[in-house]
Amino acid sequence: MKIARIPEANGRFEVIDVDIPEPGPGQVRVKVHACGVCHSDSLTVMGAMGNDFPRAPGHEVAGEIDAVGDGVSAWSTGDRVGVGWFGGCCFTCEPCRRGDFISCENGQVPGISYDGGYAEYMLAPAEALARIPDDLSDADAAPLLCAGITTFNALRASVARPGDLVAILGVGGLGHLGIQYAAKMGLEVVAIARGEEKGPLAKELGAHHYIDSTASDVGEELTKRGGAQVVLATVTVPDAMTPALGGLKPRGQLVVVGASADPLKVPPFALIPGSTAVQGHASGTSQDSQDTLRFSALTGVRPTIETLPLAEAQTAYDRMMSGDARFRMVLTMG
Ligand SMILES: [Zn+2]
Ligand SMILES: [Zn+2]
Repeated sequence: MKIARIPEANGRFEVIDVDIPEPGPGQVRVKVHACGVCHSDSLTVMGAMGNDFPRAPGHEVAGEIDAVGDGVSAWSTGDRVGVGWFGGCCFTCEPCRRGDFISCENGQVPGISYDGGYAEYMLAPAEALARIPDDLSDADAAPLLCAGITTFNALRASVARPGDLVAILGVGGLGHLGIQYAAKMGLEVVAIARGEEKGPLAKELGAHHYIDSTASDVGEELTKRGGAQVVLATVTVPDAMTPALGGLKPRGQLVVVGASADPLKVPPFALIPGSTAVQGHASGTSQDSQDTLRFSALTGVRPTIETLPLAEAQTAYDRMMSGDARFRMVLTMG
């Protein structure tokens, strides 16, 4: 089979032939049809989470089960399945024993802990699988397994309820999905991005309002509209998040899903008067992925994607890293 892997830290992709792996106990083999290219794949390339090399990234995997290992009872050959960031858990650590599997202390991530979906086949533990609905294509399902679940699950876990005003900060890979989910959840949606250009697109995606953050004060604009119950921050520049704090309603939340190592500067005075909160959100489990896929099929939420064949993994990765992709790159297998 073909696999696109990184031979060494900060290396470039090599696309080579390797043996098709056999599933061990508790695992299935997935024949990959599509795999999304995510900014977090750069963690694999850098070895930032301590992964071995060579390693194939890929945690937005859509395909079908091709072989089933011993002890797997709930899944069969031919089942259409996805694998997202949640790539397995230990079932024995304290968070697992409390049922909080996404917080597993020994949690596995496809493309970090084991070779991910930049390949024609991959192995995955059964607990990492999400069912793909019939009326969702593999290429559309793939980005929903990371970018999709991240925004969908963060919104449904937030304090926002139908009819509330919610702001989606950023109209990019995560934000273009967050806008759609928020609108389909019955929220009043304010999209926020830099410049006027993204306004029409944001409205096409379902936003009711648009704020150009370069032309006005985001906090004041949100306050004029009554304040936001939740601001979902999908951008990766923490300094762009801070102004939105001033636009939260009392008890509102700034929910942070845009991954960055830079500090988020929050003046205590921005939190105390309205008892507001800054809340992080880790994507979710395979069942949350399955819920995301189901909700997307039901309501028509779809990612905007550009596809390239597996052999062009480097080009797809470079295009994603440059920020030029509109909005998610997806690798397809021949
Ligand atoms: Zn991701
Ligand atoms: Zn655990």
